[in-house]
Amino acid sequence: NQTLAQLDPEVAAAVDSELARQRDTLEMIASENFAPQAVLEAQGTVLTNKYAEGYPGRRYYGGCEHVDVVEQLAIDRAKALFGADHANVQPHSGAQANTAVYFALLKPGDTILGLDLAHGGHLTHGMKLNYSGKILNAVAYHVRESDGTVDYDEVESLAKEHQPKMIIAGWSAYPRQLDFARFREIADQAGALLMVDMAHFAGLVAAGLHPNPVRYADVVTTTTHKTLGGPRGGLILAKAELGKKINSAVFPGMQGGPLEHVIAAKAVALKVAASEEFADRQRRTLSGARILAERLTRPDATEVGVNVLTGGTDVHLVLVDLVGSRLNGQEAEDRLHEIGITVNRNAVPNDPRPPMVTSGLRIGTPALATRGFDDADFAEVADIIAEALKPEFDAGSLRARVSALAAKHPLYPNL
Ligand code: PLP
Repeated sequence: NQTLAQLDPEVAAAVDSELARQRDTLEMIASENFAPQAVLEAQGTVLTNKYAEGYPGRRYYGGCEHVDVVEQLAIDRAKALFGADHANVQPHSGAQANTAVYFALLKPGDTILGLDLAHGGHLTHGMKLNYSGKILNAVAYHVRESDGTVDYDEVESLAKEHQPKMIIAGWSAYPRQLDFARFREIADQAGALLMVDMAHFAGLVAAGLHPNPVRYADVVTTTTHKTLGGPRGGLILAKAELGKKINSAVFPGMQGGPLEHVIAAKAVALKVAASEEFADRQRRTLSGARILAERLTRPDATEVGVNVLTGGTDVHLVLVDLVGSRLNGQEAEDRLHEIGITVNRNAVPNDPRPPMVTSGLRIGTPALATRGFDDADFAEVADIIAEALKPEFDAGSLRARVSALAAKHPLYPNL
């Protein structure tokens, strides 16, 4: 009955240090968020002890009556929130969710058509070292050089040429909404299934601030920990007729026992995502990203030549383009780290610099919006970032401005 600190002080100390880091810095990695305390609590429960292979009402283990309640709540809330016929809440991660969909609906060697990793796609959309690129025949579409948006004409001509079994719409680094109706039309012309991976923008969809892909796609996958703000994990939504295939691809196809403690945390997060407080948070997320894009690109904001890809954003992130700048992605990331702002460097399409250096930064607003940041706070964040990118910058005073913002919005006050 020892506490963590008593039993394992080394792990406890690292956890405490991580909490302090999250509290004292500004988290702007676009794929991260702060799960509510109730979500952390659900994930730290005795549900972690339970084996529950199978699905609610049809388990291969006894004693599942309570985890059945939890998993059914998660399923019902996911279906209601996104208006889906079928939900599977068991994938351990977003990558597992995508792989399970491929396993359910494709055969080795089948062709998929997804957004190129270097143009904002995800590893699981056909990158050559990923399972998707090794087992399937992956063809990539791209963004247009002229304006950085998806080249739907290219998607259409590649679909005609390669006749993919599945088209994948979705991204990890792209600052605009996708045209799901156009993707559906192209998929229908090619006789392909359409999968939308909404991992990044699911929270915006839940709040009604982004088109909902569910009515256009055969299958929609997501993570539960990005804009959706829940525990790390995956989720699959599908048309009714695909439900059985999806379920058996997840279990017994790919996974053993589901993580019922994580599923409980997903259920809590899905309840939160239906609230007005959540919608307000997503509105501040979007408006914060627009403020960043606008202020970073003001003439002389940084003095080093900063652009943002596509000229702005209509989602939760901004892609800073440093191709024409003296500063590269690595230097910019390091400078922001030095003053307490966490972002990740990111290759831009046709990046002239090597992948470990890059010419871009991906900056996201979900975690700070969860912390309570409003437009004025985001304007201050944008000005701090712009100052930090200037040839001459005063790290000490910028760090103090970061600390003041962090102190204004206490994180996990009850932990
Ligand atoms: N899909 C997209 C679009 C993502 O951006 C990510 C994560 O970055 C994933 C899937 C994979 O999620 P996970 O890291 O949970 O496997």
